[in-house]
Amino acid sequence: MNETLNPRDLMVGRETRIIDALGILNRTAAGLVLLVGEDGSLIRTVTDGDIRRLLLAGSCVEDPLEVLGPQAPVTIGPGWTRRAALQLMNQHGINHVPVVDVAGRLVSIIVRRDIDDAIPLSVPHMGDSERAFIDDAFRTNWIAPLGPNVDRFEREFADMLGMPHAAAVSSGTAALHLALCLLGVGRGDLVFCSSLTFAASANPIAYQGAVPVFIDSEPTSWNMSPEALEDAFAWASARGSMPKAVIVVNLYGQSADVDRVTAICRQHGVPVVEDAAESLGATYKGRPSGTFGDLCTFSFNGNKIITTSGGGMLVSHSAEHVRRARFLSTQAREQAAHYEHRVIGFNYRMSNILAGVGRGQLQILGERVESRRRVFQRYRDALSDIEGIAWMPEPPWSRSSRWLTVAMIDPGLCGCTAGQLIDLLAAELIEARHVWKPMHRQPVFADAMYFPHPGQSFSDAAFGNGICLPSGSSMTDSQIDRVIHEMRRMMRR
Ligand SMILES: *Cc1c(COP(=O)(O)O)cnc(C)c1O
Repeated sequence: MNETLNPRDLMVGRETRIIDALGILNRTAAGLVLLVGEDGSLIRTVTDGDIRRLLLAGSCVEDPLEVLGPQAPVTIGPGWTRRAALQLMNQHGINHVPVVDVAGRLVSIIVRRDIDDAIPLSVPHMGDSERAFIDDAFRTNWIAPLGPNVDRFEREFADMLGMPHAAAVSSGTAALHLALCLLGVGRGDLVFCSSLTFAASANPIAYQGAVPVFIDSEPTSWNMSPEALEDAFAWASARGSMPKAVIVVNLYGQSADVDRVTAICRQHGVPVVEDAAESLGATYKGRPSGTFGDLCTFSFNGNKIITTSGGGMLVSHSAEHVRRARFLSTQAREQAAHYEHRVIGFNYRMSNILAGVGRGQLQILGERVESRRRVFQRYRDALSDIEGIAWMPEPPWSRSSRWLTVAMIDPGLCGCTAGQLIDLLAAELIEARHVWKPMHRQPVFADAMYFPHPGQSFSDAAFGNGICLPSGSSMTDSQIDRVIHEMRRMMRR
């Protein structure tokens, strides 16, 4: 809530002359004056239009406003929210709403332009050079899916990670699906996967008719618990069927403890797919996140740290894997003069236009990471005195991109649950979200096995108490401060 207009400056009485009301309208540019009785109660609002109609109907500028008939004003109570005020304005086609107390006395006035500022969770943030790469594609008529931007984007992306090979595809989900295909995951195979993640990490397991087994997170990184993973391997070996692959997710911009996770997988001879959709730009022990799996996947969806509006990348040390990924992602067309197909392929390749956007975005990845980390630091510093907020930790081996600022809310100390806080923020046009609902809690995966972290299921706790705050790299300080201000107000209730 904020008001830039002082209602006192707009208050007029019944005897106020039309000419004086016009003077106020002219001076304040508010678009209305407030007709108030002797007791301070609001009688009606008077707009420029009301006065124009008065004059056209024959009144003269020396007449008192009294000549206006009564009209019940549209008002709102002091407990107003941005959402309620905007709804009221839209419903009545007005741009101001006076705030009145229970006695009908004027408290303040809300102006549309002061409150009509929604703060989204994470929005695309373009740089200066994306346009040039797209224009180049147009100029050379490389609109057909493949083209030089795709090749260069793959090269530049791989170089940035210090990896030898990369294949640009249509989404992070497509990259994960291809990864499972490359590893030969098929009907009835087991695939271990982090439970605390977005459904896109696990859906490709089902695409292949394989069987997901979900692994909990651990509290120090919020990512795959090596202990739970060991329990799952013990169960699988007792059962005599090892998983075909393990999908380890790097959550909210932070790498998993990939050394420990990959060591366990290697011990059992099981390949690792690293879902780095959320961790591009982060590092693990000083090396880029998304370079530790046998296959690593990235997403350039609109809400990710950099975006091609939609896209993904598959990265590997294996030239053969990446060559095969390109083959499968372009309908598995064999080398022949005609159209020859020996296996089922997909239409998963990234287009040359979108790769142009990606090349531009890649140039500013470092800035985007610093911006996201700054957003996090501003929240953390400003709310450091509130005991009930526990920020997602950053272990010593991790440099998170802080893709999203995430925290756990202790309802006992904060006076509200994460869910209540999300609802209250939404009423102020601030988009906060629950932490991912774990896959083992999803109705669609109701039959899947789940291995919790010893002692307590961490992902369940994170889902229950976690909140993701607006974290876009284009957020202004005043937007972050508004979120902070509202959180402080709500947690005090
Ligand atoms: C966004 C995301 C994906 C999927 O990426 P798309 O490009 O949207 O298909 C996969 N895994 C995780 C963890 C994600 O956050």
